[in-house]
Amino acid sequence: MKIPSDAARAQVKFDAVIVGAGSAGAAAAIALARAGWSVALVEQQRFPRTRVCGECLVAGCQPLLAALGVAAELDGRAGPALRRLTLHCGEQELSTELAAAPGDGWPWGRAPGPGTLDDLLLERARAVGAQVLQPWALRTLQGGAGAWFCELRAVESPALLRLRASVLIDATGAREGLPGRPEPRPPSPDAADLFAFRGSFTGTALAEGVFATLALDGGYGSMVVGAGGITALSCCIRRDRLSGLRCAAPGLRTGDAVQAWLQRECGGVRRALAGATLQGPWLASGPLVPGARLRADDEVFRIGNAAGAAHPILAEGSRHALQSAALLCARLLKDRPGSPVPDGLRQPALQRAYAADWQRVLAPRLRLAALLAHAAMRPRSAALLMSVARVWPGLLVSGARWGRGRAAPGPALPVQQPQSS
Ligand SMILES: Cc1cc2nc3c(=O)[nH]c(=O)nc-3n(C[C@H](O)[C@H](O)[C@H](O)COP(=O)(O)OP(=O)(O)OC[C@H]3O[C@@H](n4cnc5c(N)ncnc54)[C@H](O)[C@@H]3O)c2cc1C
Repeated sequence: MKIPSDAARAQVKFDAVIVGAGSAGAAAAIALARAGWSVALVEQQRFPRTRVCGECLVAGCQPLLAALGVAAELDGRAGPALRRLTLHCGEQELSTELAAAPGDGWPWGRAPGPGTLDDLLLERARAVGAQVLQPWALRTLQGGAGAWFCELRAVESPALLRLRASVLIDATGAREGLPGRPEPRPPSPDAADLFAFRGSFTGTALAEGVFATLALDGGYGSMVVGAGGITALSCCIRRDRLSGLRCAAPGLRTGDAVQAWLQRECGGVRRALAGATLQGPWLASGPLVPGARLRADDEVFRIGNAAGAAHPILAEGSRHALQSAALLCARLLKDRPGSPVPDGLRQPALQRAYAADWQRVLAPRLRLAALLAHAAMRPRSAALLMSVARVWPGLLVSGARWGRGRAAPGPALPVQQPQSS
């Protein structure tokens, strides 16, 4: 559907408006547009966007990406296969080979580097007919299931656009929710809140194909060499620990203080960064609020982090995002393309069914990630983890298997074969 030039005054009608074109939003746009729905995909940032992410894709992403028709193209740009897992705690290091995942997909996770997946998914959404509005932001939202009224504002001009839609999908990645939708008040600031940081380096001593997990006193993190030889170092750090770092080094920029902390705390980071060069500034975001946000009685459908965010210790965020989009679209399309767009009366039942799928498939992984994250952040439990893993290295592989395994069962993405656009 093309937006007419006088659209600011008129209301353009879509079957679905999806807010946010990260992995979740773009995946949902592809699935719905390929099933014949008219879809508007609204994204406020230009790509490549600024975001804090380790940029790894676990092997379980591959079947989901294949169903969306982007796996073959991504394959050539997905960076090194991650065949080895290392665990770093203080000066200690444990290392183990990862077994190949069974099946025809990726045997191991991959490290494509920033922006690659975003670009491919957005290109694909456009190619299958979704109307991509970028950079536009959702400004106000009125109505309800079956009849939504969205007002969008162009980010780089004063232009406004009004859209109507039967289905509204929140893929904003945000805990705040959409404008005008009442959300439970965010918890007040707490010492245990986590802030996320990411630095990109060239010339590190980290070997390609290694996914390095960092257990830190008051945080956790990861390092990986991605496509183009750029090493992504990302971490989460508690608010109280971060405040301490800033007080101790008031002249230092926060990202540099975090880097100094990582090098001081962790021998693996120190060795990897010896002789390395930071590319651009450190990126920061937070506080992160891991946990489920999906509600079975909501009128808006939420996917990706907007539905629930995992502690990023297993590098599973993209898989969660893609899989939640697949679960929702399977429900909306009733497991077959060409289904009619559900009206406002039908949507509550679909929401309940989707929420149940999400709880069954994704909630256990959020809990596992939380368990591992809390173990990694506490010196005693991290030391215990190291001791057990030293005696039983299979523990590391079992933990990683959750991250790199096949997509967990649930309704399949309705359109399985890549189609030409
Ligand atoms: C430190 C750290 C490391 C991580 N490492 C990894 C990793 O290695 N591998 C991995 O898979 N995951 C990782 N993740 C998690 C991953 O980045 C997220 O889980 C994933 O990006 C979520 O995707 P999403 O589509 O839900 O949201 P996002 O990717 O956040 O996309 C949401 C989009 O919505 C847009 N938006 C928001 N509000 C509006 C609005 N009002 N109007 C229009 N657009 C809007 C935003 O601009 C954004 O582009 C990491 C996270 C952190 C914090």
